[in-house]
Amino acid sequence: MAATKGKRKHKKTPEERKEQISIEWDPKTKLGKMVRKGEIKTMSDALKTGLPIREPEIVDLLLPELEDEVLDVNMVQRMTDSGRRVKFVITVAVGNNDGYVGFGQAKGKEVGSSIRKAIDNAKSNIMEIRRGCGSWECGCGKPHTVPFAITGKSGSVEITFKPAPRGIGLATGDVAKKILTLAGIEDCWTFTKGKTKTTVNYAKAVFNALQKNVEMRVLENEIKNIGILSGITGLSEKKQTTENIKEVKKEEE
Ligand SMILES: [Zn+2]
Repeated sequence: MAATKGKRKHKKTPEERKEQISIEWDPKTKLGKMVRKGEIKTMSDALKTGLPIREPEIVDLLLPELEDEVLDVNMVQRMTDSGRRVKFVITVAVGNNDGYVGFGQAKGKEVGSSIRKAIDNAKSNIMEIRRGCGSWECGCGKPHTVPFAITGKSGSVEITFKPAPRGIGLATGDVAKKILTLAGIEDCWTFTKGKTKTTVNYAKAVFNALQKNVEMRVLENEIKNIGILSGITGLSEKKQTTENIKEVKKEEE
């Protein structure tokens, strides 16, 4: 099963995918129609409508650079009167490496189609992550870490992420590292309890914590002090262009 896990490579470039959807997609939902018509141009605006994301094409169009990562493939066997039945339970994460991440699961008789279903589910669960400097030890003012401590739970697993200074990296287990990277979080301290080897619970605990990152009420002056930004910043190390670096330097002066 190990061979099916991990990052899947897309054959098309983000621009090609976007173009294909614009041609083939006939949206059925209110949000889908608004996105297709160009009335909604960003993921942030789509989420602000509060409308459910029922069509994966919404996310494909607004975040064409989205990547997916299969975190777990679990084969479940069941004996029935007619013999042995096999099902696969797939757990995936999607993210753009810059402020958006989603969790999805699906089960089915085939691995391939179940992965696709899980990815679509993850797209409908997409969330906008808040990042900041958040650490008094750092004070760089750039959105590289979680802006405040968050704790998530699932089963026996409890996980806490705390703001870390720039350059610390993601001092955490493999699954959390993959999810935080997809979210665009570059540095953070992690504290875990429980059976972190159970991938699915571990991943669910990470997303439960990230949910708190989204829902936490933050005061206006905290947003300023910690430099909290929501969603795409274009400042992630991975995405940084010379233009962005110049901008940041200007702000520092
Ligand atoms: Zn910093």
